[in-house]
This record gives sequence, structure tokens and C-alpha cells, in this order.
Amino acid sequence: LNRRLDGLGTTIFAEMSALATATGAINLGQGFPDTDGPEEIREAAVRALREGRGNQYPPGPGIPELRAAISDHQRRFYDLSLDPDTEVLVTAGATEAIAATLLALLEPGDEVIAFEPFYDSYAACIAMAGAKRVPLTLRAPSFRPDLDELRSKITPRTRLLLLNTPHNPTGTVLTAEEQSAIAALAVEHDLLVVTDEVYEHLAFDDAVHVPIATFPGMRERTVSISSAGKTFSFTGWKVGWAMAAAPLIAAVRTAKQYLTYVSAGPFQYAIAEALRLPDAYFDGFRADLRRKRDLLGDGLRAAGFDVHQPQGTYFITTDITPFGEKDAYAFCRTLPERCGVVAIPNSVFYDDPEAGRSQVRFTFCKQDDVLQEAAGRLLRLA
Ligand code: PMP
Ligand code: GLN
Repeated sequence: LNRRLDGLGTTIFAEMSALATATGAINLGQGFPDTDGPEEIREAAVRALREGRGNQYPPGPGIPELRAAISDHQRRFYDLSLDPDTEVLVTAGATEAIAATLLALLEPGDEVIAFEPFYDSYAACIAMAGAKRVPLTLRAPSFRPDLDELRSKITPRTRLLLLNTPHNPTGTVLTAEEQSAIAALAVEHDLLVVTDEVYEHLAFDDAVHVPIATFPGMRERTVSISSAGKTFSFTGWKVGWAMAAAPLIAAVRTAKQYLTYVSAGPFQYAIAEALRLPDAYFDGFRADLRRKRDLLGDGLRAAGFDVHQPQGTYFITTDITPFGEKDAYAFCRTLPERCGVVAIPNSVFYDDPEAGRSQVRFTFCKQDDVLQEAAGRLLRLA
């Protein structure tokens, strides 16, 4: 194995989902919904397959209908205007958008400042690009970024800031003030910003998702990434996209050509329709997940966890210290046999596992009765 991949082995999601399958436990680990997205969108995919749309290599940047729908979605929700021909690239999920972007924009030795705990593909892609990850730790109990610390981590080698809001796994949604300060630093130090916004439609209560690309000076230096997997509950379709100024998208597209060449065709037609669903769909999706957050949150509190209330995403980060335990990984390994539930140890999302040693993440993108059953089982931990 190439040394760049040292320590990256099997993802924690694959490991914990395999544990759920082997033990028959309820899987609140890997973030995927247990109900599929809208019926009409599934039908749209079937129609495309039957009518022979997208069964052969679609255009490299993505089918025009989907790129136009992505551009219209950005205008509708954020008043951002993107040229669908030069500023939008369809990818095989957000995962490929992240990989292609980092491979396209990083030189060996470049430094990338990224929030920690981090979604695991960030560390792997930065490593594959030969660059160096510089963590900016979001610390309990608030899990908000310390902007003075961010400033202190910028060096002449810093090439880009990698943001994720709403943030997996903590649920932090960056405020307009935080993003404005981050944007000012990016402009001052001439940094690129890559922002993973796959949970853009899952900001709850008073939290509002504002893309950093909308801030002054950011349009030309930001690559924004999102995915249909999260917003429409089709994680298996692997339709994602990157959006940026034309020169950046051209670079990302070059890398994408040699990763997957193109992304699967028929699903692109279906997601082009999904992005045009009325506001009621997006509002209903958010309201439903917010209710599920509260359902699982109440269950976790009743079971004795120290629960961090997430402002967004479909994850809840907890602390297991109240159980007299502090090793999240060991806790998650034994959770299925103790009570028939699978979760994810956040410790693997830190450079220094000590930092997240006692944090455990649960997902709530599951049916109500599944969440209730899991909550009941977790009471056995008391
Ligand atoms: N970024 C974050 C923060 C995620 O949580 C995920 C998926 N769980 C992805 C990217 C990957 O998205 P996709 O499935 O579209 O590749
Ligand atoms: N993003 C999902 C999560 O955080 C999982 C995606 C994956 O398995 N790579 O759970």
C-alpha cells in the first residue's frame, strides 16, 4: 500500500455497518435513510432508463438538464447565479467532488485547514493529494470554530480552507458572522475555500444555512459541494455536484475525467426533476428530520447520554462519560451485544483521537418506530 494511505484502511462506516449486519443490531451508525426518497423521483429514474436516456455515457460535466436544475436551485435558495455550462460539474456523489477538487487544487506540501472532527474522506483525499491537513478543532461543549485559532494556523503554505456546514458529526451550522470572518481571512491571505454543504437543507430552528460563496470576495475563490444523496434520500444513486467559478470548475473537471470520466446517466435525469420540487418538499424534509432529532435526542437523554443538540445534519453527537466510560471506539464495538444498537465513535474523526475519545455519534434519519425501538434498547445501558 502507498504510504499516503497509511492508517486509512477500512472506513469506520463500512466497519460499523458490517457489525450491524453481523449482529442484527439497529444501525444508527452510517448516515443513510431507511426510507427512499420521493416516489415520483424514483419513477423519473425508471422512465429515463426505459426511454433510453442516460444508458450510454452522458456528457462529462453532467447532463445539461441537471446542470441547469443545479444552477436554478442555487438561485432559488441563495440568490447565487451560476452558469450551468461552465460553473457546475456533476460528480459521483459529493465524495467524488471532494476528491476531484482536492486533487485538482492541491500541490504536494500544501496545507489545508479543515475542521476537526472531520468527515473521513477529507483526510484521505488530502493525503492522496500529498498535502498536509491542519486541523481546526471544534471543541465541546459548543463545537464552534475559534476564529483567532484559525488565523493563527494560516501559514505561507496554506492553500485552502475546507469547511463543512451544517457539520457532520457535530451538527454545527456556521453563522453568517462566522462565515463572514472566515471569508475575510480567505480574502486577506488569498486562500481557496472548499465548502461541503451536503446537509444544506437540514438546518433547524433558528439556524440558517448560508453558502460562503455569497460573501464578498468569495464567489471567485470558493468551490461549493452538495449531493442529492442527502437532500432527496437517495444515497445509493451517488449524484453530487461541485459549483465554482469557471477556472476552478475546469480544474476539478480535469481531475474528475480521470476518476470516473462521467457519472451514471439515468439518475441525473431524475435528480434534475428532484431539484425542481416545490418548496414544500424541502420544508417537509427539514421538519420531519427536526422532529426525528428531538425523538432520538429525548431517547438518548433518557438513556443517560450527555447529548449535544445539533443545529443541523441528521446526526447527534453524545458523550459517554456519564456511563463511567471514555473510549468511544470500545463502546461502539460492544454496543450491539450490550443493547442491539450500532453507533459511530467520533474519535476516528480527529487527528488526535484523545480529542474525541468519549464522543459517540448516532444518526436519526430512520423511521420513528426504529428510533423508538433503539431508544428503548439504549435504556438497558443504565
Ligand atoms: N460530506 C459529508 C459531510 C457527508 O456526511 C457525506 C456522506 N455521508 C458526504 C460528503 C458524501 O456524500 P455522497 O454520498 O454524495 O458521496
Ligand atoms: N456520510 C455518511 C456518514 O457520515 C456515510 C458515508 C459513507 O459511508 N462514506 O455516516
